[in-house]
Amino acid sequence: MKVPFLDLMLPQQELKTQLLKAIERVLDSGWFILGRECEEFEKSFAKYCGVKHCSGVGNGLDALEILLRSVDIGVGDEVIVPSNTYIATWLAVSATGAKPVPVEPDDNTFNISPENVKKAVNKYTKAILCVHLYGRASPMLELSDIAKDNRLWLFEDSAQSHGTEFLGKRCGALSDGAAFSFYPGKNLGAMGDGGAVTTNHDIINDRVRTLRNYGSRVKYQNIEKGKNSRLDELQSAILCEKLIMLDIWNERRRALAEFYNEQLAGIGDLRLPEIPLDRMEHTWHLYVIRTKKRDELSKFLDEKGISTLIHYPIPPHMSEAYREMKYFPDDFPIAKSLSETVLSLPIGPHLSKSGAEFVVTSIKEFF
Ligand SMILES: *Cc1c(COP(=O)(O)O)cnc(C)c1O
Repeated sequence: MKVPFLDLMLPQQELKTQLLKAIERVLDSGWFILGRECEEFEKSFAKYCGVKHCSGVGNGLDALEILLRSVDIGVGDEVIVPSNTYIATWLAVSATGAKPVPVEPDDNTFNISPENVKKAVNKYTKAILCVHLYGRASPMLELSDIAKDNRLWLFEDSAQSHGTEFLGKRCGALSDGAAFSFYPGKNLGAMGDGGAVTTNHDIINDRVRTLRNYGSRVKYQNIEKGKNSRLDELQSAILCEKLIMLDIWNERRRALAEFYNEQLAGIGDLRLPEIPLDRMEHTWHLYVIRTKKRDELSKFLDEKGISTLIHYPIPPHMSEAYREMKYFPDDFPIAKSLSETVLSLPIGPHLSKSGAEFVVTSIKEFF
């Protein structure tokens, strides 16, 4: 039996009729950039997130950069980011000219720790950019308080948390603004690159729409040095169809995560991810276990035909891209230790029960 890490074929098969119709609609319209499909998706996704505005952009990294630039974050500013995240979170801050200031996560939730955020705030700090890592909502109440007390912007990197709920609201609606990625492997994925910015602020939204389109709202009137980063009509049409399935697909992920947690409890030195008290606070973009025997386990599963991945093997502070910051590996010991012990098991809306059972049996066999 082969268990892929994530099946990117079956979602398309499940929706083939609808997707083909959506693609045909775009073909027949003869309009490919910033048109009706993008507007339609922006409206639907804003409504889904429970937020006033959504603007489609080219990818998740651009969504983050444009969001930060929309409030004039740049050279001389500091933005607080998690030490344990995909490097894109940091790269977006660097792209604006500002400095990413890493803060260690809570060892139980993998998410940024409010206590550590407080310690990192200084007079140069302009924003907190939290990441709802692996699909789990960040501690938004505490982060909002810190942001208010220190007059900081609070932003969400929502690239892994499409549909995640927090006290009845959704990620994307929990801060001043959020960035989404629709990279094919995300919980809501396009058939190419895509991203979006959501916000309740009219001013931020206006600026995002200018920045994504060459700094222009009226053709050939360029009021600032913007980017070219737009969600195209084909991806928008595809995302409209896939959005309809998101809650169902996320619920399948929750069921699989609960199954894994039940079945893998007490095995070897495994440390399982925590299921939040409110199970809606997690959408399980990734199911991440920890073990000292990570590399051996991953190899053993691979030989059985089970694909696993590591998110992430090199924390940003140890990445060559950030060598100029001159960090030592032990400057962020939690991020370092996670990079040495985490392993992501297969999970996704199209992983079968028998597939998950095979993963469990194989892990038991290993230990
Ligand atoms: C995927 C991801 C991004 C970047 O999204 P792209 O669309 O690939 O640019 C940013 N942040 C996090 C946490 C991600 O997982």
